[in-house]
Amino acid sequence: MKLGIVGLPNVGKSTLFNAITKAGAESANYPFCTIEPNVGIVAVPDERLNVLAKMYNPQKITPATVEFVDIAGLVKGASKGEGLGNKFLSHIREVDAIVHVVRCFDDTNIVHVDGSVDPARDVETINFELIFADIEMIDKRIDKTKKNLKSGDKKYLAELAVYEKVKETLEAGLPARSIDFDDEEAKFMKDVALLTSKPVIYAANVSEDDMANGIENNKYYKTLCEIAEKEKAEVLPVSARIEEEISELDDEEKQAFLEELGLKESGLDRLIKKSYSLLGLISYLTAGEPEVRAWTITKGTKAPQAAGKIHTDFEKGFIRAEVVAYNDLIECGSHAAAKEKGLVRLEGKDYVMNDGDIVLFRFNV
Ligand code: GDP
Repeated sequence: MKLGIVGLPNVGKSTLFNAITKAGAESANYPFCTIEPNVGIVAVPDERLNVLAKMYNPQKITPATVEFVDIAGLVKGASKGEGLGNKFLSHIREVDAIVHVVRCFDDTNIVHVDGSVDPARDVETINFELIFADIEMIDKRIDKTKKNLKSGDKKYLAELAVYEKVKETLEAGLPARSIDFDDEEAKFMKDVALLTSKPVIYAANVSEDDMANGIENNKYYKTLCEIAEKEKAEVLPVSARIEEEISELDDEEKQAFLEELGLKESGLDRLIKKSYSLLGLISYLTAGEPEVRAWTITKGTKAPQAAGKIHTDFEKGFIRAEVVAYNDLIECGSHAAAKEKGLVRLEGKDYVMNDGDIVLFRFNV
């Protein structure tokens, strides 16, 4: 999963991104972490891996990972290709979802590029750039479909109608995400990769005080929630400053620090969990002496395709999957005990994977 961080200058993107990279560097040693300066890789928090590790004593524990891309520099004029504009848009094309950081803290020492703190205007500034880029793209589709229509084939009428509807929405200043497509419309839109169709999480960067003492009275946060509701996006309150402090701590200190603030989880952990649910992702697990590991799949993925995540040969030569639910395994205490109770199931190629399935794939080579 790849998440792109966008937002106006001085809203806290780098602070958050630095916290992410540091957390990544510390939680696991991924050699590919530092290849690009704007990419950070972090582990998906999953307590189940630690529990399984106690059972299997594996040589290594490998969590699922999320890749964050810092897409700083998406500013006014980006869609017109001004400056490095196009480069930023192309970065956004590559991500699965967008984390849009919005300033929701007052601080006279931190200059706002547009002179005041105003989430509605800030969100609009960034969204307009994405919307402009999408209008350009949908216009091309409309032109092409009109040409096709000259052949007299009626099917192009329905297609054209969908694109016109999208254009209308975009021109009204709303992202394509806000449209409810019926099944037929969705078919036409499947291969139209619009930027504003991507899922968005608005990360409301609130002050440390607000984060610790409650955000109910933060009017910026409230505004952001109203915007998000209209356009089918999610909001997540974070404090980039707190995340920065957390990233300096080891696990034990981190827990103590969060408790002191009255928080259950770090903002980064909440962000990852929210992205998972927003994108409809789940994890299945493999467990053995060499390795205990989590693998990311989309809800609804069938066993062979899930096996393909490990190796394409697993998918091609798939025979069956031996599956035990995480809770069953933990309750029984061991794989052998679960098997004795008949809780280790043999599943075929049509089996739809569940979150927390512990799997051993059988395949032909
Ligand atoms: P970017 O331009 O969006 O990457 O913003 P930065 O992360 O560089 O942050 C801009 C400034 O705002 C820095 O001086 C940060 O320390 C400060 N900043 C970031 N988050 C917060 C916050 O939650 N509260 C306050 N008061 N300052 C913050």
